[in-house]
Amino acid sequence: MNEKHAKSALTYLSALMMVSTLMCSSTNNYNSDSEDQIIPVNPEYFIEEGLLEPITKVEYQLSDGTTALCYKIVTNSTPTDHQMGPWCPTHLDDGADKGGIWMEGGKIYDVDGAFIKNLSTFYKDAKWKLYQEDGTINITDSKEACEAAARPDVDPAYYNYCVQCLPSYTESIKQVFYIPITPMAAPPPTDQNNHRPSAAHAVRGDRPRRGQGGPPGGGGGASIIGIAFNGVNFDPPAPTADILKHYTLAPLDDSGGHINPHAGYHYHAATGNTKKIKQKDVHAAMIGYAMDGYGLFELLDEKDQEPVGLDELRGHYDKVRGYHYHVGPAGGNKFINGFKGKTGGYTATFQ
Ligand SMILES: [Zn+2]
Ligand SMILES: [Zn+2]
Repeated sequence: MNEKHAKSALTYLSALMMVSTLMCSSTNNYNSDSEDQIIPVNPEYFIEEGLLEPITKVEYQLSDGTTALCYKIVTNSTPTDHQMGPWCPTHLDDGADKGGIWMEGGKIYDVDGAFIKNLSTFYKDAKWKLYQEDGTINITDSKEACEAAARPDVDPAYYNYCVQCLPSYTESIKQVFYIPITPMAAPPPTDQNNHRPSAAHAVRGDRPRRGQGGPPGGGGGASIIGIAFNGVNFDPPAPTADILKHYTLAPLDDSGGHINPHAGYHYHAATGNTKKIKQKDVHAAMIGYAMDGYGLFELLDEKDQEPVGLDELRGHYDKVRGYHYHVGPAGGNKFINGFKGKTGGYTATFQ
């Protein structure tokens, strides 16, 4: 290369650098005008009594294969800020205080004796009859019964049963959550590569998949949605079609949780009974973290207004909270629609 060529190449290069510098600075300006606030996870929000061991920082592989510093949060899925149950009422005369709730069509219903009696009308199917002639309601009353009724292919002996599993069946559970300390947005999906981790990709719902054989352990990756400050997990949607198909009902308690023999106590609805972090403005209160480290907030703000400008994942951005999610209504059987960020991991084992 002679001197002249070298010089023109240099001029070209510096011109290129100027362009890219301009592009960078314009990108930065764009960011500072939009989503520059990234709020790290605050481990002090978690209720100490709900932890099996102190929260630690560990390197952990995220959903995209990269490694990042995560909080390791170990719990036994037992809330300390509210009681668990009741789930199934025992008699048709029982009031709402004796049972939990059920989700249908975006609404929640009290599961009292009258609701159980009315099921054939409610679901327009005469085969529903969860009770005996004397008004006693059929309830799974042992760990074995709970397991048989919670299988994907419900044991026919438990058709027309109200299914409930008790805390004593799963009290030896140990849940480990790995949540990135600093949430990191995952690359947006493209047409060719639509692999953003999504709640729809959940592998660990209430019932182990066929062939999975009901492992004593839990799933992994982003198989759950997030964690409440009491250490209990927010789960993917309950498989209500599967539950109803076998004429069973698996009510949630008034706090939106119930127990699965393989996964312990978990939530399918946020009903406002768990620890909240009230905000300084009128914004909805915070109720936990999603598995990507972004905050989970209630649906309604202090003026009972729903958030505006939510994206398809149920998230939006503001200067105070950074990007964050607002959970869906309690009867919707869904907290959020997917993750914006790279997710950490989750395991459940029995000790
Ligand atoms: Zn469930
Ligand atoms: Zn918000």
